[in-house]
Amino acid sequence: MPKDFLQGARDHYDVVVIGSGLAGLTSANILARAGHSVLLLEQHYKLGGMATWFKRPGGHIFDISLHGFPYGMVKSCRRYWSQEIADSIVQLDGVRFDNPMFSLWTSFTREDFTKQLIEKFGVEPEKVNAFFDKARSMNFYDDQQATTRELFDEFFPGREDVIRLLMEPITYANGSTLEDPAISYGIVFSNFMSKGVFTFQGGTDKLIEAMEQELIASGVDIRINCDVKRIHVRGDRVESVEIDAKGARRTIKCGAVVSNANIRTTIFDLVGEEKFGQDFIDDARAVRLNNSSTQVYIALQPDDLLEVSELGDLLFSSTAPKFETGALLSRDITSRTYSFYYPKTRPQREPRCLIVSSTNANYRDWADLSPDDYLASKQDLCETTLDALDKYVPNVRERAVHVEASTPVSFKHYTHHPAGASFGTKFEGLAISRGLPQQIGGLYHAGSVGIIMSGWLGAMNYGVIVANEVDNQLVSSGSRSTGGAERGVAEDMTAS
Ligand SMILES: Cc1cc2nc3c(=O)[nH]c(=O)nc-3n(C[C@H](O)[C@H](O)[C@H](O)COP(=O)(O)OP(=O)(O)OC[C@H]3O[C@@H](n4cnc5c(N)ncnc54)[C@H](O)[C@@H]3O)c2cc1C
Repeated sequence: MPKDFLQGARDHYDVVVIGSGLAGLTSANILARAGHSVLLLEQHYKLGGMATWFKRPGGHIFDISLHGFPYGMVKSCRRYWSQEIADSIVQLDGVRFDNPMFSLWTSFTREDFTKQLIEKFGVEPEKVNAFFDKARSMNFYDDQQATTRELFDEFFPGREDVIRLLMEPITYANGSTLEDPAISYGIVFSNFMSKGVFTFQGGTDKLIEAMEQELIASGVDIRINCDVKRIHVRGDRVESVEIDAKGARRTIKCGAVVSNANIRTTIFDLVGEEKFGQDFIDDARAVRLNNSSTQVYIALQPDDLLEVSELGDLLFSSTAPKFETGALLSRDITSRTYSFYYPKTRPQREPRCLIVSSTNANYRDWADLSPDDYLASKQDLCETTLDALDKYVPNVRERAVHVEASTPVSFKHYTHHPAGASFGTKFEGLAISRGLPQQIGGLYHAGSVGIIMSGWLGAMNYGVIVANEVDNQLVSSGSRSTGGAERGVAEDMTAS
């Protein structure tokens, strides 16, 4: 008999959350804590979405998106998850840049960046301070017309080296470009610059397992292998979701839906464009997806232990003479971000070091290849990455016991994000996401969208904001609630 992944599920829940990325998980936890009945549906066989990991024979465990996040995660995890989760967050020891314009180490704090900009780059102290103050004062409600390029031109005209230092890590952190609104840069940059870059000690598996325990304690009904095919709407309200649980179809009623699937998928595939106003659909159609990524995962022999003092935790390396977003996306790779994982932060069965090389990438460069060319291109990605890494880890090819790659096609396969988008959509996706409940009562979206709401912290905090709105709706419509969902995160996000 095939397994029934919805065995024992009820016919009606106050809220159905579609997807278990960090936004979906956080929304589900807050809503259940507030007293609502919550069903969490995930199409994959494990929770976490992009916040994930995989194991390989030999005992290697690779993290996909645990390269670094801002300090704000400590507060968000403590408030919306648990003290224990918050206590596992630790600062990265060192961040490095190595490119034809400059090589440097930094703690990635405002203090250190200020020092380097003044002493190494020769920028006037007043300019540096004014720039930091301006970035820090930006918030979500500011002017959205000014671009990041214009922001840099105001403070550092003609200084491509300074722009590279300030922009390259943020482009990796959320896919943003010089043409995106300055606020999407300023908010994310200031979040990182508050105290440096942080990681989760113990690995993504430990985090997601701890979150699952919290969800169970909060009373969330968690179901994996449950692919939502349709959100049904009756009149102007959501009514139910239709689920494909590995072949078994079932429809479950609900008072509200929080979709953690991509915003475009939510509108065009799950609900159907005929249910929305024409102007809204025109705007939704214009929403651009963010780029995708490639990664190469390398495990060294056990006991071939690298030194964090020599390599750091994060290395932004590039051979491109200038910083250009287009070059960062090109299949002809010149820029790679290496994450070095040491046994103290990423425990393995035996002490060993792992390296993950990440690049931004275009989906079509991979999806349009024939099966043979795709495999050859993946192999080439592994080989060229080993060549490039040799500069920092000599003889890495001989020292590696496991090397494999993932591509935009892999990210699409595992998360169902169109074009394997790593960071949801570009900025315009945020207004569409926020506008859903005005179009269809009880329909919400929480998840990577609009750059600010992406990454671990952005996705999690967006989950909080949306949970609060869903709680308000359920309270005012008379559904059972303590009205206790958390408040004030919109302000926290811009201030943290
Ligand atoms: C290679 C890479 C590196 C990254 N590195 C970092 C980093 O170092 N720091 C950082 O902060 N961020 C990083 N990110 C980004 C970060 O991981 C994401 O922004 C964040 O995890 C996204 O969370 P989310 O809530 O938007 O949901 P997602 O993680 O996108 O998850 C959505 C979930 O919904 C599920 N789903 C979709 N459709 C359905 C359906 N119809 N039915 C049921 N389930 C469905 C999917 O399976 C998935 O589990 C990285 C991302 C990538 C790809």
